Formats: sequence, C-alpha cells, structure tokens
Amino acid sequence: MHNIRNALIRWCKDNSPHCATFDDIYFNPGAGADESRYVFIDGNRLTAESFPPDQQTLIIAETGFGSGLNFLVTAKHILDSSAVPPNLHYLSVEKHPLTKEDLLKALSAWPEYSELAALLHTQYPPAAAGYHQLNFAEGRIKLTLMFGDAAESFSRLEGQVDAWYLDGFAPAKNPDMWSPELFQQMARLSHPGTTFSTFTAAGVVRRGLKEVGFDVRKQKGFGRKREMLVGSYVGPKPEHREGKPWFKLPASNTKPEAVTVIGGGLSGCSTAWSLAQRGIKVRLIEKECELATAGSGNRQGALYAKLPVSWTHQGELHLTGFLHSVNLLNHLDPEHTLWSQCGVIQLATTEKEQQRQQSMLAQGLYPDSLVSYRSAGELSSIAGSRIESPGLFFPDAGWVSPRDFCHQLTTHPDIEIAHAEVASISRQQEHWQIDTVTDQSFAASHLIICNAELANRFEQTAHLPLKPIRGQVSITPESAIDPSLQTVVCGEGYISPAQEGRFCFGATFDLKGKERNVTLEDHQHNISKLSEALPDIAAQVSDVQDQLEGRTAFRCSTPDYMPMVGPAPVADAFIETFAQLRKDRKWQFGNAIPEHHPNLYINTGHGSKGLITCPISAELLAGMICNEPLLLPKPVIDTLNPARFIIKNLIRQAI
Ligand code: SAM
Repeated sequence: MHNIRNALIRWCKDNSPHCATFDDIYFNPGAGADESRYVFIDGNRLTAESFPPDQQTLIIAETGFGSGLNFLVTAKHILDSSAVPPNLHYLSVEKHPLTKEDLLKALSAWPEYSELAALLHTQYPPAAAGYHQLNFAEGRIKLTLMFGDAAESFSRLEGQVDAWYLDGFAPAKNPDMWSPELFQQMARLSHPGTTFSTFTAAGVVRRGLKEVGFDVRKQKGFGRKREMLVGSYVGPKPEHREGKPWFKLPASNTKPEAVTVIGGGLSGCSTAWSLAQRGIKVRLIEKECELATAGSGNRQGALYAKLPVSWTHQGELHLTGFLHSVNLLNHLDPEHTLWSQCGVIQLATTEKEQQRQQSMLAQGLYPDSLVSYRSAGELSSIAGSRIESPGLFFPDAGWVSPRDFCHQLTTHPDIEIAHAEVASISRQQEHWQIDTVTDQSFAASHLIICNAELANRFEQTAHLPLKPIRGQVSITPESAIDPSLQTVVCGEGYISPAQEGRFCFGATFDLKGKERNVTLEDHQHNISKLSEALPDIAAQVSDVQDQLEGRTAFRCSTPDYMPMVGPAPVADAFIETFAQLRKDRKWQFGNAIPEHHPNLYINTGHGSKGLITCPISAELLAGMICNEPLLLPKPVIDTLNPARFIIKNLIRQAI
C-alpha cells in the first residue's frame, strides 16, 4: 500500500477529532490522556520491576498513531520517571495520517504535552508511505512512524518489541486491521515476555492473539468501560523471518563502547555522528589533513530526491532519506548557516520528461506538500529568473554545504579524528588491527569502512564493485552574475542560489575520466546544460567563462547505483555456501548462515546522492550494531546489502 490518504476529520463540538472514514473517535474527549495511561502504560506494566535493571531502551509498537496522544503520554512517562528504562523507541503504524494542521489542532487539547507536541509537529512527515524517523530529547526518545497498513508495515520491520499498544479503531468499525496477519506479525516481533494491552475485549482480538501464542486476560476497562485485554507472549521464540538467506543479518547483542570509522566524508562523518549519539566513542580516521576533501567537498550540493514514477525500493530510500536529512539538518543547524531550505525545481525540458513527471504525480504516491507540478511561468516567479520549461517544485528541499555538514556532524565530544592513511586491516583474535602507510596501528572491536571508492583497497573488501565517476563543478567569480536566483534549479545539471556572491553549478558525469585538473571543456559543458535551464544566467556566465573556477571530484558509484550499507561478507564463504545458485536460482538453502567478517561493516557507494542517503544509512548501520529495530524496511535494507553483488554474480555464473 503506497498511496497514503490523510484521514478525513470532523471536529466535534468540544473540538475533539472524529474520524469520518471509520466513524470513530481518536481519544476520549477530556479523559484521553488518563485513558491512555490506564490502558497502555498500566496495562503493559511499564514500571521498573518489569524490566531487567540494565535495560537501556524500551521498545513499544502501536497500531494506529492517530493524533499521537499515546506517544506523547508515553514519552513524558519515560522522561519524567526514573522507574523505567531511560530511553524509548516507539514504533507506530498509521494508514490514514492526520494532516499537520489537524495534528496540531487535535493536540492543542493537551497543554501538558505542548513541548513534545511542538517537536512532533515540526518533524511530522508528509503523507508519504514508508518509515519516518523522528527524534526527541537529544535522541532519548525515537519515534518511527510507519505510514501504511498495520500488518504490511510490521511485516517489513526488522527488530523486537517489548510492549504492544493495540489502538486501532474498534474492531466492529475497523475489522480489517485486527487481522490474523497482524497477529502473526506481532508474534514474529515479540520475545517471551513481550506484553500487550488494548481498550477492546472483542472476541476476534482475544482469539486471534491466543492463536499466535499470547496469554490473554480480561481486566476492568477505563472509566465506565466494562472490560479490556492485557497479556504477554508465551509462545515459542519466533523463527527468523522467511526471506533470502544470504541477506540474514549477523546478530549483534552487545552495544560496543567504541567504534573506528575509516573515511571522513559524508558517509564517515554521519556514521560517526549516529554512533556518538548512542553513547559510543568514535575514532574517525581520515587520510587527508581535512575532512570532506573528496566527493563531499563541493561548496554546495542539491538536497532533494529524484522520485520514480512507480514505487521502488530505490525511490523509498531516496524519499525517506531526504526527509530524514531535512530533519537532521533542522536539528543540527536550526539557524540554517550551512544549508538553505530554498526549494528545488526539477525541470522537464523535453516532452517525454513532462509526461514522466505528470504521470508520476498522477500515481498519488507523493503528497502536494512534498512536490507539485508547475508551469514555466510559475517556476520563473518562484526562482526569480526566467525559466522556459515546466517542472516539479519541492518546497522543503534546498542546498547544503557538504563540507560544513561534515564538520558539524563531527563536533560531537565523543568523536576523535585521526589523520592517517589506512593501508590494511587484519583480524587479530578479538579485534581488528588497522595499519597505516606510516606504520602506525590502531585496534578496534568494531570497524566501519566509509572511504568511498577506496573501500575495496583492503583484502577483505576487494570483491566490492565500486566505480569512480568524475564530476566537475564550475564556480563563478564573486558578484559577476545577477544574484536574484532564489531556488536550486536542476535539469541535466544543477545550480544553487549564490553563496557569498558566487554561483556553483554543474556537474559533469564522466564514467571514464581520471583527470583531476579542471578543464575549460567541462566548464563549457556545464554552461551549455545551464543554458537549457536558466538562459539569462547562462548568458551572463558565458561572458565570464575564462574567469570560472572549478573543482573536480570522483563520485563513488556501484553497478546498480544503490549504496552499499551493511555487514561485510566473507566473499569465499559466501561463494561456497550459496554455490548452488549457479545451477538453480530458486534453490532452497534451509538454515544456511551467511558468513560475515566479525564486526566489520561497510557504508559506501552513495554516488551523487550522499546528502540524502548517507545520514539514513548511518542510522541504519548504528541501529544494526546496537541491535535496535531498524529504521528502513527489510526489503530496502536488502537492496543495500554489500553481499548482493556476490549473489548476482553467482546467479549469472560470473564467478
Ligand atoms: N493512538 C492514537 C492516539 O493516540 O491518538 C489513536 C488511534 S485511533 C483510535 C485508531 C487509528 O488507527 C486511526 O488513526 C486509524 O487511521 C488507524 N488505522 C485504522 N486502520 C488501520 C490499519 N489497517 N493500519 C494502520 N492504521 C490503521
């Protein structure tokens, strides 16, 4: 289910929201917060005695986010009391999200939660399918909002839940949600002792939960309600999910104290940040004397997602990655000193592209607030410069200075930067030894390789197919061009509004070039692409073309243009274990376990999309290492798995 429709709200006389689609209420007017505490917090016994003393994070999953009241009540419970685990990861599904405006209005009934409600409102995603990650209280509270059907969304989740809040509309009004598929997913995601509670005592819920292994008890309902249900999972330890055996992730049971990261570009810096946020000490090793000197070193990079016509895993990664980066930048730099949310225009200069963009929007996958189709005239006034083609406008997108972003990500006190070039890595009993070209060496229990196209220079990762793609950007002299451009404009190339009086535009895409020099030919190529998008600006640039400065860098790309993020496979062992794929791509491997290098991970291959894929990939890796529920759906995680090329090559009989 990828078309998300907002809930149709009718406002009652007392200003509480009523859902017209299901003809039911979101919360008990006046007593909603008390009911939430009674049914869900007390119903799941969320007190210290219920958890091991060393449990750091409580993981709650909810069916039906609605107005978010249960979330706010629970988040405040965690923040205000020392009697439960100190951190909360709250996962909630929602098929018909409230609009941002309705959410704000609904929550205005609860002034005691106004601070958290304001943070929820700021980060609240547009109505687009998939998982959305929101953070509160310096990361102590994480909210994963999954927009889509409950059973389907949970079927894509990788992780384990401690307590379930079953809060869909009443089974009589919404029978579809309380389905056997949902109960099966609950069992899969539970561990022995996982609790649940729900306001309803309907037979279909009682029987459904019993059938999948929950012990179900009735107890007195809230206020005048007669009964509700509570219980816990007593079934067998759930089997690992079905799926491709080669994408089974290695177990990671204890959070490491320290991790070493190789590479100081966007990938390495965002990985370091995500780990440091979790209280892990990070050593970041960068071979140059500065961070972000290679692919992440341009003055400005466009921050937006080029979306596909139909729903794809790649599109899902780019869309949720874009929204994630926007939230992260807002958090790190609310003053917008290193980025600008000036909007991005994606032009359609050919009829074919115009049709593609229109049919993309006609699918209804992307809400208007995220992207809309505009005429050339509208785009000209949005951009403040003449545009001759129609196209898409992304109002919340913009540009980022990747280098400043890298610096900001690594100012964390738990990140230490070492400038050294790593020559090799080797496994020594329980740790990794990292040797540099100057004969220095470091030891690390966990190691993450984030050094772009150099990621396969090590013996363990030599099999990774990475290819550098040369790109040159052009930079105009200060104050040489009329500075009235207001937004980023992308066509074949892109240009951002002037920064300190200079425009940065480009970039070439050269699969073969190895040249590090800036060339006039490439400047001319960039100008010719610019003239298709912004003819007036291009004409001014042509006049100063011999004064243009430039910068070349190499994007690190992969054969399928998706990043490589995940555990490092042991290539020979993979080939041996899954050799039958050469003869039969449908071979059943039973309990085959893929072998990975212990505690070695990869985060590379972000091409020119690092601004939207690096931060989300970093969170994904940190979640894997810390054994958290993962913030991307499993099918998307599989498309990032670095082992996918070994498997493809076996199937193609290329190895
Ligand atoms: N927990 C909410 C709160 O604190 O405001 C109230 C939830 S309301 C009673 C029930 C929610 O379940 C609605 O927002 C509704 O859109 C959602 N819902 C209904 N059917 C669903 C389904 N199949 N999958 C996901 N969400 C669903």
